[in-house]
Amino acid sequence: MSAKNTIESVYELVLKRNPGENEFHQAVKEVLDSLGPVLEENPQYVDACILERIVEPERALMFRVPWLDDKGKVQVNRGFRIEFNSALGPYKGGLRFHPSVYIGIIKFLGFEQIFKNSLTGLMMGGGKGGSDFDPKGKSDNEVMRFCQSFMTELCRHIGPDTDVPAGDIGVGGREIGFMFGQYKRIRNEFTGVLTGKGLNWGGSLVRTEATGYGLVYIVDEYLKEQGQSFDGKTVVVSGSGNVAIYATEKVQQLGGKVVAMSDSNGFIYDAQGIKLDTVKQLKEVERKRIKEYASIHKSAKYTEGCGGIWNVKCDIALPSATQNELDLEGAKALVKNSCICVAEGANMPTTPDAADYLIENKVAFLPGKAANAGGVAVSGLEMAQNSQRYAWTFERADAELKNIMVNIYKSISEASEKYGAKGNYIIGANIAGFVKVADSMLAQGVV
Ligand code: NDP
Repeated sequence: MSAKNTIESVYELVLKRNPGENEFHQAVKEVLDSLGPVLEENPQYVDACILERIVEPERALMFRVPWLDDKGKVQVNRGFRIEFNSALGPYKGGLRFHPSVYIGIIKFLGFEQIFKNSLTGLMMGGGKGGSDFDPKGKSDNEVMRFCQSFMTELCRHIGPDTDVPAGDIGVGGREIGFMFGQYKRIRNEFTGVLTGKGLNWGGSLVRTEATGYGLVYIVDEYLKEQGQSFDGKTVVVSGSGNVAIYATEKVQQLGGKVVAMSDSNGFIYDAQGIKLDTVKQLKEVERKRIKEYASIHKSAKYTEGCGGIWNVKCDIALPSATQNELDLEGAKALVKNSCICVAEGANMPTTPDAADYLIENKVAFLPGKAANAGGVAVSGLEMAQNSQRYAWTFERADAELKNIMVNIYKSISEASEKYGAKGNYIIGANIAGFVKVADSMLAQGVV
């Protein structure tokens, strides 16, 4: 079969086997659409049905998570873990707790994770998990009871050499702590089974900052290649969670000015530059809404609805909230305002038509697979430190992170050029991530 026919038939198969899972379809299509030239050059991938195998999770788990709320009433959520591909190492990828979670979201994230982890150059397969549980508005005790129930089932399937989950939307240090405690209690072992742990009990320095810092490091590498830097640049960051906060911190350290941030209700614009201490206090400590920022700082204006953030004039945009948050209308506004670079802090935050529009209009577009790989990279470094029973300094972990991001930029840039699409980093990231996984699957036989 020709490369084109293979791609089409695999995509048809994905649609048929995974009905209604739109986010998963979108993620698969984006990768498959990049792979034509690679398959032409490597017919052995077609012969060994690498594509047919890579779109099918090795294992998909779905389970009931019953727990008692503070009123003593029974609540029931649904838990997931998709162990997608272990060609490069133990399954690795975060857990997302958000009411929108269903199997299609977990599959899309798990699929992306395969290629992202490959790009880091570390030994990690791809996986993802989570639940439709909403931590918002729950007490600490409710979150703890939920996490304990979730881990009571999940602990049968994971382990430091098998599958190592981390955080994602709705899963931060608090949730990782509760889940780690329950795993340790049931299995009677203290191992690096989760990453994003507290620093006293096996966590790595820089893990909290890693995704945001890594995002800014890769953009900085791109800017350097253009003879530019963050110094004096105006930046818009969507979201105000883990990724957004630490991306903002690093932009500010490098001399850039972040003027807007958001949450799922709306966005703030502060022409004088966002005061990050206030955002950290509101979001990390008090778990409040971003709206509050405008009542603390009179220089800021709050606008209801998060989509409007792309109308804010900027040189660089870092979508760092959630999937499909930057649509064609947003992309048009960015181009109109002469934005030069969009880098995805979140997973798949840009709709396909918006990404095409940005690329057509010569905006450098760094896809999440590459741009937000810093988080999982430092998770990989946390696993390495846990195996050594040793903790690195902040400087060492940060230097390793930076090095990994610089290498990712080089590899996606080179791959885009090698396959005739210079500067198209979507194609570059998909190809560079895919080839290593495909070669490893070939070497490991039909499994
Ligand atoms: P957090 O839960 O810390 O923050 C998420 C942020 O996004 C919050 O500001 C949240 O606002 C906002 N948000 C969530 N859902 C929506 C929505 N439907 N519409 C608009 N805004 C929304 O998550 P992270 O910062 O960890 O993750 C953000 C993104 O980055 C996700 O796509 C995640 O998969 C990706 N990512 C995270 C990594 C990590 O290390 N944490 C690693 C790689 C990727 P609100 O509080 O109102 O819900």
